[in-house]
Order: sequence, then C-alpha cells, then structure tokens
Amino acid sequence: MQLTDGEDLYNTVLHAPIGICILHADSLVAEIVNDKFLEVAGKPYEALFGRYYWDAFAEAQPFYEAALAGVVQTGEAYYADEVEWMLIRHGREEVIFVTFVYAPVKDKSGKISKVAVWVLENTRQVNERRAVTANEERLRALVTATSDVIYSLSADWQVMRQLDGRGFLKDTHEPITEWRAQNVHPDDMEKVNAAINEAIRGKKIFQLEHKVLRADGSPGWTFSRAVPILDVQGGIVEWFGVASDITERKEMEEALREAKERSEQQKRLYETITSGTPDLMYVFGLDYRFTYANSALLSMWGKTDEDAIGKSLLENGYEPWHAEMHEREIDQIKATKRTIRGEVAFPHATLGKRIYDYILTPVFDEHGEVEAVAGITRDITERKQGEESLARSSEELQAINEEMATSNEELVITNDELLQIQQQLEEETSEKQAAIDRLETSEQQVRSIVAAAPFPIGVYTGREMRILMANQAILDVWGKGSEVIGKTYHEVLPELAGQDIYQQLDNVFITGEPFHARNQRVDLMVDGRLQSFYFNYSFTPLHDADGQVYGVMNTAAELTDLVLAKQQVEQSEENLKAMIAQAPVAMCILSGPDHVITVANQLIAELWGKPQADIMNKPVFDALPDARGQGLEEVMKNVYQSGETFYASELPVSLVRHGQPEVVYQNFVYQAYRDGAGLIRGVIAITIDVTEQVLARKTIEQSEAELREIQRRLEAELDTSKQVQRQKDDFIGMASHELKTPLTSLTAIVQVANTKLKQSEDNFLAGAMDKANQQVKRMTTMINGFLNVSRLESGKIHLEKQDFDLELLISDVIEEASLTASAHVIHFVRCAQRPVNADRDKIGSVISNFISNAVKYSPKGKNIKIACTTKDDRVIVSVKDEGMGIKPDDLDKIFDRYYRVETTHTRHIAGFGIGLYLSSEIIERHGGKVWAESESGVGSTFYFSLSLTGTGSD
Ligand code: ADP
Repeated sequence: MQLTDGEDLYNTVLHAPIGICILHADSLVAEIVNDKFLEVAGKPYEALFGRYYWDAFAEAQPFYEAALAGVVQTGEAYYADEVEWMLIRHGREEVIFVTFVYAPVKDKSGKISKVAVWVLENTRQVNERRAVTANEERLRALVTATSDVIYSLSADWQVMRQLDGRGFLKDTHEPITEWRAQNVHPDDMEKVNAAINEAIRGKKIFQLEHKVLRADGSPGWTFSRAVPILDVQGGIVEWFGVASDITERKEMEEALREAKERSEQQKRLYETITSGTPDLMYVFGLDYRFTYANSALLSMWGKTDEDAIGKSLLENGYEPWHAEMHEREIDQIKATKRTIRGEVAFPHATLGKRIYDYILTPVFDEHGEVEAVAGITRDITERKQGEESLARSSEELQAINEEMATSNEELVITNDELLQIQQQLEEETSEKQAAIDRLETSEQQVRSIVAAAPFPIGVYTGREMRILMANQAILDVWGKGSEVIGKTYHEVLPELAGQDIYQQLDNVFITGEPFHARNQRVDLMVDGRLQSFYFNYSFTPLHDADGQVYGVMNTAAELTDLVLAKQQVEQSEENLKAMIAQAPVAMCILSGPDHVITVANQLIAELWGKPQADIMNKPVFDALPDARGQGLEEVMKNVYQSGETFYASELPVSLVRHGQPEVVYQNFVYQAYRDGAGLIRGVIAITIDVTEQVLARKTIEQSEAELREIQRRLEAELDTSKQVQRQKDDFIGMASHELKTPLTSLTAIVQVANTKLKQSEDNFLAGAMDKANQQVKRMTTMINGFLNVSRLESGKIHLEKQDFDLELLISDVIEEASLTASAHVIHFVRCAQRPVNADRDKIGSVISNFISNAVKYSPKGKNIKIACTTKDDRVIVSVKDEGMGIKPDDLDKIFDRYYRVETTHTRHIAGFGIGLYLSSEIIERHGGKVWAESESGVGSTFYFSLSLTGTGSD
C-alpha cells in the first residue's frame, strides 16, 4: 500500500472503515487517529493523539517496539495477520486478535517521515472459526449424550427435522401437526398453538413449558425453545430448537411451590432442625465409636447392628484419611458445639465413586454439654451429575448458537443478540435450578428427618403452641392422627393440664432457654383412658431471623417400657425380699458365684445360730465356715451353674450354733434365682430345720420296735398256749374216748344189777345200786360232754335231724331231771304242740344242760320254771331259776369253752365250763340263738330259739 502525504491522506484516514493511526517517524507521536482505530484500541482520543505511541500501548511495547523501529529504519512494512494481543481496553485487560500493518510513509524526498498503523480486529472471526471445529465434535457428543431433542423447524413450523446421532439434521420432513397431536398433552394444545403463532408473528424466540404425553402414554412436561433464524430482510429462514424433558423438575417445582407457600419461619425452622437426610444416619460417641447406625448405613457396610455398633470408623471400613477427617470434626464439634457440613467423595462398594453431602450435629446432654455427635449423610451423586450436565448442556447450547451464528455470517448481529438472550435464559434457568436444588434439599431433609426420625418430634409455634409439625412417632405417642396439625397443644392434649408441661413450654417460649426432662412420667389419654408413660424430652426454643422465639421444638424418647420393666423388676425384687423376710420358713438369697448372703430372714439366722448382722453380705461359706466340707459347696455351685433345683431331705449338717457344735437335720431346697432375662443371679435357699422331728421320730421308731418285740413275744406265748390248749383238748378227747368203753360196760352192769336189786329185799343194796346208777349216768354225761367238745373241735359233730315234738322232748327231759333234782320245784309252762325239725338228742342235751345248771346254781327248794313259747316262726325255750344269778361281766363269757364264774359260791359246785359252750354250738349249728338274762342274787333265765321252718344247717 502506497500513500502520499497531504490532504488526500488525511481524508482517507478519517473516513476509512479500518483503524488508522499515523505516527511521526522520528518521535512516534500519533498525529492522526481515526475513530475505528480508537474503537479497536479501546482507548480515548486524548490517550493517543499527540502522544508517544508506546505510552498509549505500553502493554504491547515489549512485543512490537522492535518491529515498529525496524519499519522506520528499513522502510519495509511490517505485517501481522490475526495476532493475539493483550490490550487494556476501556481500562480492562482483553485478549483480542488483530490484523495490522506498520507501513512506512515517505515524503517527496523519499525519506520516511511517518509510519501508518493499519488495524483490523478479527477476534470474533478467529474465535468463531476455532469454535466451529470443536463444536462439530461437541455437537455430535451432545446429540448422542443428551436426552434432549434437538430439532430444526421450517419457517412456518410445518416441517420438523431432528438431529441424528452424528449431529446432523435428519431430512425427515415430519409433518409437525401430526407430531404435535401425538406428543402434546391435549390440555396444553391450545397454549402451545398460541405460543407458536405468537413466536412466528413476532419473529421472536419461542419458549414454553407445556405438558406432553410421554412414550408410555403417561403425562410429562417438556421445555421447548426454538430460535428463529432470520435472513437479511428480516424474514424467518428456519427455527432451531431444543426440547427437554422437565417432568422431574416440574414435579420438583410443584413441591417447591407448595413449600414456598409455607412461611419463612418454617424455612428457618427447617434450618434449625436440619441434620441431614434420611439416607445414612448415625451417632458417634465422643470416643469416635458408632453408637447408632441406621439400616441404610448398615446395608452399605454390609454389616449387622452387632457388628457395627461400638466399632470405630476404621473398623467399619473407613479409609484412614476419611476416619481421621471425621474424628477431627467430632473434636471440633465437641469444642465449638456447632454443626459441621461437608461434602466427601469415596468409592461405594457396588456403585463406584459416589459423592456425599454430610452433616454432623452435636447431641447435648441435660447440662448442655456435647455427649455425642449425630450425623446424616446423603448421596448427592445424581444431583451433582445433574448440575454438571445442566452446565454442559448450557455450554453446548451456546456452542450450537455460536455455530449457527458462524454459519450465517450475514446474520452475525442478530444471532449475537439471540446468543445473549440465550445466555441470559440459561443463567436464569441455572439460578432457578440452584434455588430449587437448595430448597428441595432443605425440604427433603426436613421432611425425611422429621418423618423418619425414630423418636418423636413435634414443632409448636406461637405462645399458644400451635402444632406446626408432628411426625408419626409423636402422633403414636399421643395416640392421635395427623388431624392435630394446626391445632394448639392444649386443644390436642387437655389431659396434660396440671402436669407442669404447659408451664414448661411457656417458660421456654418466654425465656428462650431450652428445657430438658429425664425419666419424666406423663399421663396421656390414649385409647380412651388415661395411661402413664415415661419420657426423656426436650423443649428447644426456635428463633426467627431477629432472634425472637417464635416456637418450640419438642423431641422425646419414650422410656415407658423400660421404666415399667425396671419398676416391675424392682417391685418383684422388693416383693421377694419382703416375702422372704416374712416367710414362716428359713430362707435366704445367695447372690453371685460367691453365694453372698444378700437376703436372709430371722429364721435362717436362728437356724444358723448366728446374729443376722454377722452374716449379711458375706459369702455364705465365709459366714458359716463350719458348713464347709460337707458337700454343700459343690451342691450350691451346681445349682448356680446349671439352674437345676436341689432338694435334700433330713440332711444332717454339722453347725456351730451359739458357740456349740451341733448336728442339725435340715430339709433344703436350693433353687436358681433368675433375673428378668432369665440369667441366673444367685441361689434361693429354703431350709427347714427338722432336727426335732427327726429325733422324735427316732425315739418313736425305737419304742415301736420295742412294742413289736413285745407283740412278737405275746404272739409266741399265745401260740404256746394254743398248743397247750390243743394238747389239753387232745388229751381230754383221748381220755374221754378211753373212759367211754369201760363206762359203757359199767353202765350196762349197773343197770342190770339195779333192775335185779329192785325185786330184792335188801333195801340198802337196792338204794346203793340206784345211786350207783345215777352216778354212772352223771359220769356218762360228763364223758359225753368231753367227747362232744373234742368232736366239735375236730369238726366231727353231725346233726341227725328229724321231726319231733318239742313239748314232748321237754317233758321227757324234765322227767329224767326230776329223778336227780327232787329238792327243786320244776314248773313247765306248755306251749302249743309244734313239731320241729332238729337233732332230737342234741336239743335234748341242751335243755338238760339248762335245767341241770338251774338246779346246780340255785338253792334247794327254789322254783325252776320252764317255758316254751312261739314268736313269729320261731320257738323259744326258756329255763328260769331263782338262784345266785350272774354278774354282767361274766354273762357274755359263760358260753365260752371252759369258762366258769369264779366265786366262793361256785367254787364248791362241780363243773368244767363246757355245758353252755356245747349248748351254744349245737343251737348255732341249727341256725338258732342262745342267750341268757340274769341278775346277781335274783336268778337267771337261759333261752334258746329254733326256727320252726327248719332252716338250720346240719
Ligand atoms: P359248769 O356248770 O359245768 O361249770 P356250764 O358251761 O354249764 O359249766 O356253766 C358255765 C358256768 O355258768 C357255770 O360254771 C356257772 O358259773 C354259770 N352258770 C350256768 N348256769 C347258771 C345258772 N343257772 N345260774 C348261775 N350261774 C350259772
């Protein structure tokens, strides 16, 4: 380029569409500067005009001073094409791309008098060109990666083309009306059409959130944005657009809108009780060990409660750096009593690298000291990725727009503006998104914490304590449903009046001081009746932005079961102790493996012969050293270890009682004493002293043995006497038998002699022979009696029954008796003639025996009255005398064999005591009865009765 000095030059410079600055060749002072140059330089006219060039461009001097000087020296122009300059424009550092020339200007003499600096800025072109290549790649990636639909539309929105997987528009020419009918939700069709018409009419960017029908037919939301691309005349060439599925975000916004409706107070409240998300909840002790881990956390570790609780971070699989970090934080919380929030990334066992947001909060004890640290960790990987992807797609959109701008060079300006709008929109969107995220996080956290908290939480606002929030746990405690929200605490729980709680709440509200209660009994109306519950509870004041208390947060831990169980245990233990103290048997409780005497009643102390005070709280074998070595230690140990009850009966135990060694006999029960969990805690010993009984029984046993011996001897004696009796019977039987034969001969001889002598003249001989006959008869009777006894004993007596006239028999017997008993008056009271069936001779001998006794045992001259009566079907024969009679004691014995009444009177009356015995035997064998009535000194009556029907046995 060759220029000439002078006016032409000046005009050229001033009106040039390119930046020009003319410098004096020697001084490099700017002599002419046009507007375009100033625009590119970004500096005011005064900064350049009339000034040394490098003063104005000090920032570029080190790079181009030499080049400019070279132009002056050599006269050769210096060209720079699209070079990068760092320039201070309008006071700001900027990197720009310029194409410039330092061109020498020669005067007429050929001397270089000026240097012309030509400059053209091409920053935008360079950037755009660079972007094109990159964008092609990005676009491809975007279309593949994004779930958004990127499309172009014909100017009239009748034809739509979608981008394909390589980032190129598919020439599908899909009829858009049909597409819309299928994809836009009918509810929003009108709205969409109106917005399209407006965008087309106004040639403005189209953007709309509207409802759609998703591929599966479910309703969703889409955000559509289409940018019109205009030609030079301002006509729409086509539209370029993106549609994003914003269903989730809309749902989120819906939730957000609801949340926003709630008061600012609530938001502050959320912050107050924010302690994280429900995802991973845990509590550390100040020794950095886990005291609680929720199921989400346990499952992440793949551990059970027992495995994880009480373990340190390292033991639960944390990396050393991670464990150290949390331990430092726990220390910090302990020192500052402040919540710590952080973000941490570490690899999850199955999900790979995850990003977590965590909150560690101090847990205060009733003195307000940190006693533990509660933490909640939430997996925010997805959210993070979402944010990143949002940022990326903004970038991509920008890139697309830039690409569009580049490819429509003639529309640079329009597109530039669009780009700005676009950026602005993106900024708004991301701000909104961030706000949503923040609120969503807080909202979610609070909801989750309050709802999922395993302990009751309630939030009450205003001095009237209106229930703002109440989680399921607190509703369960109250026995109420969610209808309590919005009511006052007093309305919901009127039964608390008079239980201090209203006052406590009011104090917290007024003073702003938190209130903590431990192990407090609270009576609540649940299921229609007032029931007692026990809680640890806290009322924490909630402050608003100005520090004013606006409400109270109520947290509680229910202890009812615990307290009741404890009370029950205490009660039952008390009961047991009282029972033992009052027990009528000696009892004690021996606790633990050493069998320490923890409970012992007075009776056992007495039994042991030691003062109660001396034995209490000592191991039993220390308190009773004398009880050692008798096997009791082993027995006691076995009961304590195995739980098997030991019984002992009358066990002799050597004890030193009241200083005296003694053997006591004891009945024992050693039974395991178990706690509520069934674990053996000791042994209950019940001891009954049976020494007295044992000794008494031993005495009794001894005397019993003696008695048995006496009895045995008596029995032996009895045996002997029986034998003697039998020998006597045998002898009598034998003697009688032997006597019988000569007696029979004698009887015959006497009878014959008697008959002969009756006719003789010798009266003496006749009388003597008569007497001899009588004595022989008596003797025969006696011998027959003995023989009969003997026969009876050996069972050889036989009845020879016949029908005979009893009256006649009696008359015969009386007649015979009268021969020998002439001294007595015998009367016979006859009865009606009755035949009986019996052994005539034997019945006759009975009557004969009765009459001979009446004669024998009554004085001479007395009456003997014989009667025969019938009663019912029996005949009764009686023989009454007026003799000595029989004493009652003897009366029931006179029918016994050999029994005779021993008196001075009877001593001289001969007899063997067998007559009545034989009579009773004979009558009884006939089935009849024999008895006697008598009065001593007055007389006796002997009876026998026989059955007239003859039922007697033979
Ligand atoms: P015995 O007359 O031979 O001694 P019994 O058997 O006939 O034997 O009589 C037994 C006892 O009964 C007599 O010893 C007598 O003591 C008493 N006894 C019997 N009959 C009478 C009576 N009629 N009056 C008083 N005592 C009688």
